[in-house]
Amino acid sequence: MRGLRDSRVHRTSSLPAIGTLVNQPAYAELVKEFGRARVVEALRRQVADERGAGGEMQDSDRLVRVGTTLRAAVAPKLRGVINASGVILHTNLGRAPLSRAAIDALAVAAGYSNLELDLDSGRRGERAALLSGLLMQIFGCEAAFVVNNNAAAILLALTALCKGKEVIVSRGQQVEIGGSFRMPDVMRLSGARMVEVGTTNRTRQDDYEQAITSRSAALLRVHTSNFRVAGFTEATTLAEMASVARGHELLLIDDLGSGAAEPIADEPTVAESLRHADVVTFSGDKLFGGPQAGIVLGRGESGAAAVKTMSRHPLARAVRIDKLTLAALEATLRQRLSGRLDEIPIERMIRASVEDVRRRAAMWSVKLEERGVRTTLVAGESAVGGGALPGHRLPTMLLALSGPASRLAAALRHGDPPVIARIEKDACCLDARTVLKGEDETLIDAVEVAFKAVAR
Ligand SMILES: *Cc1c(COP(=O)(O)O)cnc(C)c1O
Repeated sequence: MRGLRDSRVHRTSSLPAIGTLVNQPAYAELVKEFGRARVVEALRRQVADERGAGGEMQDSDRLVRVGTTLRAAVAPKLRGVINASGVILHTNLGRAPLSRAAIDALAVAAGYSNLELDLDSGRRGERAALLSGLLMQIFGCEAAFVVNNNAAAILLALTALCKGKEVIVSRGQQVEIGGSFRMPDVMRLSGARMVEVGTTNRTRQDDYEQAITSRSAALLRVHTSNFRVAGFTEATTLAEMASVARGHELLLIDDLGSGAAEPIADEPTVAESLRHADVVTFSGDKLFGGPQAGIVLGRGESGAAAVKTMSRHPLARAVRIDKLTLAALEATLRQRLSGRLDEIPIERMIRASVEDVRRRAAMWSVKLEERGVRTTLVAGESAVGGGALPGHRLPTMLLALSGPASRLAAALRHGDPPVIARIEKDACCLDARTVLKGEDETLIDAVEVAFKAVAR
């Protein structure tokens, strides 16, 4: 309220009526841009504030204030940022950035498309069926279905296949995924009854065997994708769970969540899951570098029947995949099918060598030093993140900016575009691994601006 105090002229409530103010020529521009009603409303609040503060602003200051308020209200809230944090699938930054082909596909879906029209017959088509064939080819399975996200895929599987029956889950797999997706809550919501077996650190094949009753419908394995239990642990393998399930004609459902499309570190792969489970679900972004989506695969006759039941359940309509998501996912699947993995940003980031990252950071360093920004190259680690590969760190090379770390990080975040850095060992650090191709110059400009703002 500094402006208000500086420009105070009267202590009385001699303010002109709102109707008079809004008709002043100075307000014509704002009225044209935002409409009379919105300007009147903003003016009413402004004048009330002035009265509340017991003073009155100069007309020109009031005009600026009202304009700022109106513009702030319509400024985009969702903004592109540069991710220099080194966390590849950053939950707070939208997880996977899309490939060029996926972005182009969004434009196709934005207009009219054959989303639900079979162009050959002219009859109604099924949107999810557009992707089933591609997924079946990539993973060599008997059935596939896509929904909005993986949380929805699990909810749909449990509701359509297990409602009113029992589902056996290990106590070591009662996970919470970011954004409060908790397995026991999802189970309750689906109407399936959860039967917990084993302990937090150990669950054996026999524990599953003992829990089976005439009301059992399925065994559920939940990949503990965002944490590791170390020490005295024992988990029943998927193969052992499959043998229990088969012996009692129960379904084996595997919520893989993240996992890996290609073998990496000790992450479970989709192929491995499909060898044993009837139904496998996972995220379209965590594992694929596509848009957020829920992918459901069915193996064998039992899996195919289960996927069919899921796709016909009324809940499938409520969680159906959006046309933009579908378009981006199809483009990403085609890139995977044809082996063009290096076109998918997260794959490039995961596979970049320390030397690749170091070269880029060194180039930034030279340019920044020329502009008076002091930097140092330090060894560090990047993370895959997003509840994926929890124990897996990638060696990287960080560019540390000299100066007060948290103030620098805040200045970068407030920049245009905002840059998300990471504070490590009391330094504000930039990890080139997660900065997209073509963002280098913009980043360098933004760092210079932030550095100078803090130095002032
Ligand atoms: C991430 C994850 C989910 C939720 O997936 P969304 O795509 O965020 O809906 C569910 N289960 C596991 C094991 C996960 O890792």
